[in-house]
Amino acid sequence: MHCPFCGEADTKVIDSRLVAEGDQVRRRRECLSCHERFTTFESAELVMPRVVKQDGTRQPFDEEKLRAGLMKALEKRPVSIESIEAALNRIKYRLRATGEREVKSMQLGEEVMTELRQLDKVAYVRFASVYRSFQDINEFKEEIERLSQGNGDAADVARALAENPTGKG
Ligand SMILES: [Zn+2]
Repeated sequence: MHCPFCGEADTKVIDSRLVAEGDQVRRRRECLSCHERFTTFESAELVMPRVVKQDGTRQPFDEEKLRAGLMKALEKRPVSIESIEAALNRIKYRLRATGEREVKSMQLGEEVMTELRQLDKVAYVRFASVYRSFQDINEFKEEIERLSQGNGDAADVARALAENPTGKG
């Protein structure tokens, strides 16, 4: 690729290594003309299905939006960035694995809930309360009770609900 500093067409790879658990190649390059160094990342371009919203409109899959949603649910929770990225990758993998060109936004929401349930119960409750908007309040109550049983997280779960009692973020 062209040098981003001087535009020279010829650049040389001086170092190459796998990153992101082998999903990316990081290359250190040097321009043969101005000798500036820069880094490129290479990863496979995988086409994600489009997302069909409940009103029928279609949107391209938005990884940043998904990441932001996970981060918001996990705000101030003891979950590492690595765990969040791994969850994000699993969601993307499962959506691609459907082989569909379009997926319903509801399916995406369910995938997020599946991951959050594993990662952090409080985050799961936060997300579920917004996402489901208490439309199925009995089912939701049962879910909370299930989560609260047999562990010390009941108070945390109750607090998360209290923070967001109407289900409107
Ligand atoms: Zn250059």
